[in-house]
Amino acid sequence: MKRAAEKGVRRLLHLLLPPACAGCEAPLSLKGGRVCPRCRTRLKEPPHPRCPRCHAPRGTGLPASRPCPECSEWPDVLIRARAAVLMAPPADSLVHQLKYGGWPELAPFIAARMARAFPRVELSAGSLVVAVPTTPSRERERGYNQAELLAECVAEAFGLPLVKALTRVDGGETQVALHRHQRRSNVEGVFRPVDARRVEVRGSPVLLVDDVLTTGATAGAAALVLEAMGARDVHLLTFARSLPGGD
Ligand SMILES: [Zn+2]
Ligand SMILES: [Zn+2]
Repeated sequence: MKRAAEKGVRRLLHLLLPPACAGCEAPLSLKGGRVCPRCRTRLKEPPHPRCPRCHAPRGTGLPASRPCPECSEWPDVLIRARAAVLMAPPADSLVHQLKYGGWPELAPFIAARMARAFPRVELSAGSLVVAVPTTPSRERERGYNQAELLAECVAEAFGLPLVKALTRVDGGETQVALHRHQRRSNVEGVFRPVDARRVEVRGSPVLLVDDVLTTGATAGAAALVLEAMGARDVHLLTFARSLPGGD
């Protein structure tokens, strides 16, 4: 209840105060969107060289034969991950505002960056877009699921259907403070198939959409459930990517 009241106050302040950038709080002109020009140029894509599968920056001088520490333990069905930007200022503020700041109007800007990061040609015809679901209680608290807002915009940009194929059970802690191995066991079993969607998913490639990629534990758990539903392969698209070794 308290959170809902706080959200209401924040929304009211947004209406009353002059518009400010969601990345740096600089004042904005009324028709410039929610992100200032400086923040737009500060958003950086993951640097080269990158792992061909997960696009983690690999650093220079590493032998190409060395397995990527970021994705070597992902399930095989999760064949590719792409992120629009590195999780560094101002991307962290944008994600925070989208998630907790009650600013769902940031979704079109963020999703446009995501669509640019994923070459449409890498998706075959008949692909489906699926959002990583949040728990019903968190969705009630926020009033929306940020991954689904992004997935709606991405699906529209690519002209692909958005399918609600997964649900997430309540329980399981937030991943934020957990280590890699804890993250994996924390998300095991939290996703469930929506049985009515099995027919649509069977045999189709899936573009799985989330706001942030950290270790891939969440996406991996979701991808395994999609595989069990018959999905052919799963591609992951997120807005931000945490740097290897970071949280
Ligand atoms: Zn800014
Ligand atoms: Zn990798």
